[in-house]
Order: sequence, then structure tokens, then C-alpha cells
Amino acid sequence: MMAGANEPENARDRYWMSRALELARRAGAASEVPVGAVLVRNGEMLSEGWNQSIGVCDPTAHAEMLALRAAAAASGNYRLAACTLYATLEPCSMCAGAMIHARVARLVFGAADPRAGAAGSVFNLLQTDVLNHRIQISSGVLAEECGSLLREFFRVRRGNKPVGVATALLTVG
Ligand SMILES: [Zn+2]
Repeated sequence: MMAGANEPENARDRYWMSRALELARRAGAASEVPVGAVLVRNGEMLSEGWNQSIGVCDPTAHAEMLALRAAAAASGNYRLAACTLYATLEPCSMCAGAMIHARVARLVFGAADPRAGAAGSVFNLLQTDVLNHRIQISSGVLAEECGSLLREFFRVRRGNKPVGVATALLTVG
């Protein structure tokens, strides 16, 4: 089972995840894979990000990466201690690695990504003893909304074909 899967959701987490969902929809409206992220510290949003890989032609322009970069720039510090990152989809290994570098304290994500998730599904980079920083994980917050947004995106993009490789990652929960 995924770490943190049984932790209770709370209203604060749902609130910030709903903000991340708005950003995911913004990505989807631009024909990007609809994933959104926000970084929060002490109850205040430091930054936001949404997938822009296609638009800016950058394989690293994932929602989480953009939120991390913006928060570091805004705070003048590449360490983002005491921050919680909210992401609509379980982060990939690149984003999880960046979160470790930034010393993010906590991750809250919506839909699991059994194909590439690095917060417990395929890897758990955030809680390995090998690295020098570990990140608390809460999963499944607004998972149905986060996952259905992704499923619908791929369903439309693939022209209602049966489940293929791209939709296989969108199995929620
Ligand atoms: Zn990523």
C-alpha cells in the first residue's frame, strides 16, 4: 500500500487541492496533460504551477517543478523548508527529486500514478533511507476529481479508443 494512504483528509488539504485542480484545468484548456500544483507555507500559498511541457517545449515543465521554481524565486531561497506541495497527480521521479533538493516537508497528492508515480506507486523517493531528507505523504485527496480530469483528457485526446498506454496511468486509487 502507498504510504499515507490511510491518513484522514481534512478540510485544509481539500481546499488547497481544489486550488491545484483549478490549475490542472488551466493546463487541460491549453491541451496540456491536466496536472496542477500549489506550494503552501503557514497557510499561505507561495506559488502555483500547471503542466506546460508542450507549450514551452520543456520536458521539465511539470506543474510541481514550476511551482517549486516560482516559490524559490519568490522567497529568495532554494530551500523550501516547512512547505507543503499539493499536486493533483502523484509526482514523477524528476519532481520528487526536486522536492528532496528543496527540502519540502510534506506532499499531498490526489490521483495515484501507477505507471510513473515516485511517491509510493513505482518508487518512493520521498521516504527512502538512502537520501538525506524524507517527506511526509498524504494521498488520495480529491482523488476522484483529479483522476477523472485526467481520464477525460486522455479519452478525448485518443478519440474514445479503448484503454491504451496513456490511459493506463490514470487508474485512480
Ligand atoms: Zn513530474
